[in-house]
Parts: sequence; structure tokens; C-alpha cells
Amino acid sequence: QEKINHLRNLHHINVNGNDIPNPIESLDQLYNETEFKKMFDDLKEHSKQLMQNLSSYRFIELTPIQMQIIPVMLNNRETMACAPTGSGKTLSFLIPLLSYMTNLKQEERSGIKALILAPTRELSQQIYLECCRLSTGLNINPYLISNANKEIKNNFKIFDKENSILITTPNRLIFLLGQDGFKHRLKDVEWMIVDEADKLFEEGQKGFRDQLGAIYKACDNPKVKHAFFSATFTNEVEEWCKLNLNNLVQVSIGRKNK
Ligand code: ADP
Ligand code: MG
Repeated sequence: QEKINHLRNLHHINVNGNDIPNPIESLDQLYNETEFKKMFDDLKEHSKQLMQNLSSYRFIELTPIQMQIIPVMLNNRETMACAPTGSGKTLSFLIPLLSYMTNLKQEERSGIKALILAPTRELSQQIYLECCRLSTGLNINPYLISNANKEIKNNFKIFDKENSILITTPNRLIFLLGQDGFKHRLKDVEWMIVDEADKLFEEGQKGFRDQLGAIYKACDNPKVKHAFFSATFTNEVEEWCKLNLNNLVQVSIGRKNK
């Protein structure tokens, strides 16, 4: 425990919640520590492929948010995380998400398994590209809705593929939810991730609370877990997360300011 506290202090990782999973210092630990080994052992081939995809990034160390969020999400815990812009939040959720999805059994793979929301098209596109890069060879299908009307015309056939990740802005998703035959597509979602939640809750995005409520309700799989990411801490996001998330783990990176 002393070692864990030291690691958190060293990297200014602040945590709040019950039974918070220990941070990891490196990705190798996922292979070597018994707690994670069992998760990675079942599908060694795919885990190897994921690690290989990661090695294309050529970075050696995890960022502090990755050290803490990867084990939190691998343990299926709901989380609200704050870390500065540029600190590697995208991979902090994509790594555990893709590992979760590669470990699903064949009969658990149908439909849209994960939903990632971001405030703008540009941001969702960036996440999409990173997701494509990291999911090479993993039998995971990332989708970015670029033309909602086309999907409607095609009867949402694109979502028939198994093990898919839908990346979109809340606006587009709400538009789709208003169409016949889409809503039940969200019944398989097991991870709902909201990126730049602070921006989405900002003034001027007033409709977002309602949109979020509708999306949250539509993802009604009993297994669904939620994770919220922001660059800055805001009371609005915290309030929402405390109200709606189960056994919340809060993580923030930086010197404490609250
Ligand atoms: P954030 O969402 O926190 O603003 P990003 O996830 O967009 O940050 O990451 C910013 C950049 O850092 C990206 O180019 C990403 O590839 C890179 N990056 C992510 N993780 C690491 C790491 N562990 N070491 C070095 N660079 C990283
Ligand atoms: Mg980001």
C-alpha cells in the first residue's frame, strides 16, 4: 500500500471512491500481475495483437491518467476522470475498452458493444482514427456516423456487424434515436464513454443534459458501465456522475485544487 501511495503521489494521481484498483506503472504489468493475467490469458492471440498495435505508438511510459484509468476500467468500474489536455486520455479509455471487447465470448459479441460520445465532429473523428489504429486485427468494428440520413436509408444495416463501437456527437445520436428501428440497437452497449464531458456540460450546450439523459436511458443493458472524461474538474459533471453512476471512482491528475 505504501508503494501504491508513493506511485500516486509521484504522478499527482488523486483518487476518490471505494476499493479503487491499484495503478499500474507499465503495460507489461497487465501481463505479469495475477490480477490482470487472468483477463489477458484467455485470448492471448488478441491480447498480443493489441499490444502489438500499441507498440506502433513507440512510447515507453504510460501517462499518469493511463496508469490509473486502465486498471479501473479493466475492473469494470464506473469512473469520472479529469486530466489536462494532451495527457493521453483517449488511450486511457481505448486500451481497456478494446481489451474488454476482445475478451467477449463469441455469443456476447452481437451489435454495438460500446458508445463513445464527444462534443464535436472533429473530436469524434480523432477518436475514431485512434480507435481504428488500435483495433487493427482485433475483430472490432469502429463506426463514425458521417451521414445519418444514409444510415437511415440503409436501415442501419451497418450496425448488423458484431462487436462494434459507435463514435458520435450527442446531437447525431439523438437524431438517430428519433428514427424508427434504431433505439433497440443500443441494447447491447456495455460501455458508454463520454469524452470532454466538461465541454458538453458547459453553458451554451444547455440541451446536453436532456440528450445525455435520453442516451443514458436508451443504453439499458444491465451490464452497461459509464466513464466520463474531462480536461478540467467541474461541479456539473461531478454532480451528474455522483447521481447516476454506480460505486464511482473519481480520478484527477494534478495538484489538488479542491
Ligand atoms: P487528451 O485527450 O488527454 O487531450 P490525447 O489522448 O489526445 O490527449 O493524447 C495526446 C497525444 O499524446 C496523442 O498524440 C497521443 O498519441 C499521445 N500519447 C498518448 N499516450 C501517450 C504515452 N503514454 N506516451 C506518450 N505519448 C502518448
Ligand atoms: Mg481528448
